[in-house]
Amino acid sequence: MKRKLLLITFLVAAIFSNSCSTVPVTGRKQLSIIPASQLMSLSFQEYDQFMKENKLSKDAKQTAMIKNVGAKIQKSVEQYLAQKNLSDHLNGYSWEFNLVESDQVNAWCMPGGKVVFYTGIVPICKDEAGIATVMGHEIAHAIAEHGGERMSQGLIVQLGGMGLQAALESEPALTQQLAMTAFGIGSQVGVMLPFSRLHESEADHMGLIFMAMAGYNPNEAVEFWKRMAAQGGGAPPEFLSTHPSNETRINDLKKLVPEAMQYYKK
Ligand SMILES: [Zn+2]
Repeated sequence: MKRKLLLITFLVAAIFSNSCSTVPVTGRKQLSIIPASQLMSLSFQEYDQFMKENKLSKDAKQTAMIKNVGAKIQKSVEQYLAQKNLSDHLNGYSWEFNLVESDQVNAWCMPGGKVVFYTGIVPICKDEAGIATVMGHEIAHAIAEHGGERMSQGLIVQLGGMGLQAALESEPALTQQLAMTAFGIGSQVGVMLPFSRLHESEADHMGLIFMAMAGYNPNEAVEFWKRMAAQGGGAPPEFLSTHPSNETRINDLKKLVPEAMQYYKK
């Protein structure tokens, strides 16, 4: 067991040394062994499948609110990356913001900008600023390429560092399962567990800035997480107890609000 762990550590280190990219905003170096185009092609395939199997909400007002907040934050993120000379980061993106019928208190964003909110999270969002909190956080997961990072980890740990295309050909079912988990849709929590806290904190940090740039008061994010904490109960994938506890999360967010306020456009 120890030997296997050592081997994995070695493999990760070896691959990491020449396969890493940088997260915008935070500047963190991350593992990336999958070309963005391949990752997005897989993501869009999984997304199309999901949309075929699930129903869009019939609530026109809520749907319009999701699309409107999504478009606003998308525009702000595009402007931010353009200012930093990082527009290439969005190559191949095909943004979509949808509200899907489901009681689950959850939302996700797959690589390439495919955002889905479940109707179950809307009451906790309460208003546009609450939606912007979740939207900023989900878009941050995509911009920070957490899906690609987790998928890279999955390929290394479970398939010995095999490339994505080769993995899809030789182990299609396992690769698809890895992707669903890596993209935050799968409910299984597996080998990627130790990285989740890092990803969640990073998405909170970036999301706060993104919502502020789009004109939403970042203090509202703190209020959203208080409502989420009060709701408790059956926690869905994005909000599992393995993630920062709500209390830690709220305290961390409060510390980040002053930085985000510098981006806040009223
Ligand atoms: Zn998250």
